[in-house]
Amino acid sequence: MAASSSRKLRRFVIGFWAFNLCLGLLVTAAWLWKNPAARALIISPTPIPTGTDPPTATASFVPTATFTLTATAVPSDTPTPTLTPTPTSTPIPFSEGPIVIGTSVEGRPLEVYRFGTGATERLIVAGMHGGAEYNTIQLADELIAYLGDHPEIVPPEVTLYILRALNPDGAARSHDYLGRTNANLVDLNRNWPANWQKSWNPTGCWTLTYVSAGSGPASEPETQALMAFIQAHHFDGLINYHSAALGIFPGGIPISEASKRLAEAVAAVSTYPYPPINTGCEYTGGMVDWTANQGIPSLDVELTDHTDTDFEMNLKVLQVFLNWKQ
Ligand SMILES: [Zn+2]
Repeated sequence: MAASSSRKLRRFVIGFWAFNLCLGLLVTAAWLWKNPAARALIISPTPIPTGTDPPTATASFVPTATFTLTATAVPSDTPTPTLTPTPTSTPIPFSEGPIVIGTSVEGRPLEVYRFGTGATERLIVAGMHGGAEYNTIQLADELIAYLGDHPEIVPPEVTLYILRALNPDGAARSHDYLGRTNANLVDLNRNWPANWQKSWNPTGCWTLTYVSAGSGPASEPETQALMAFIQAHHFDGLINYHSAALGIFPGGIPISEASKRLAEAVAAVSTYPYPPINTGCEYTGGMVDWTANQGIPSLDVELTDHTDTDFEMNLKVLQVFLNWKQ
């Protein structure tokens, strides 16, 4: 290749690009001439305070709202939920029952009803002689129904328990003298560990049928269940209803002074004889003698006959019993 042609080509390339550059400059100058804003940007990069408008850029520095957000984000008021655990103490209902405290020889439930929630505990036991004294069970049921309708008669410091039938087997067998004993032919009021005797002089005592004192003190499941129930509580008053006619027997060997005072209080609102009628019977293994020996003021109270519950009178007895203080 000749050197002269190479020079020509180089000159042509240089001239071509020089022409392009000049043309570009001219086009740019013309565009700037027609766009003053673009021209101003290039000549002075700092923004020109055009007109009287304030520098609106300062508005972007007013994000005060974002600072208040952080203030509300402090949940310092939330500790209040610590007060809600109060409903953990569920109130004890006024009454409850039947509470089964054991079973009879034949498997019948021994049912207790509770009324009130006070610390002073009182106990009424009925139906110890089953069907022979069925009106004591009827009285217990009447008192249970009345207490359900009139909870206000139970003082707030008192809890009353009623065992409606200690001898349900006898009550199921017969509603006469044949229903006195439990299914083992035991007289449950001869079965307690208070002067318990296997046999006794029958003079002046109940002798219509054969009755046993049990194979030993507290041999019967009915006696054992009630003993355990009494020992699991702190009773300071007990009435054991029987029938009929002999009156009010304070418990204890010897008879306790507190039982005598309770007997006087009950006698004051009833026609039941006190001191009780003495038939000359030797009482052995009696429940109220055992409970009074445990320090519980205790009474046997005998209804007037074998049919009436003496309800109105026993309502007065109940009110005296609930409000009595040792
Ligand atoms: Zn009796």
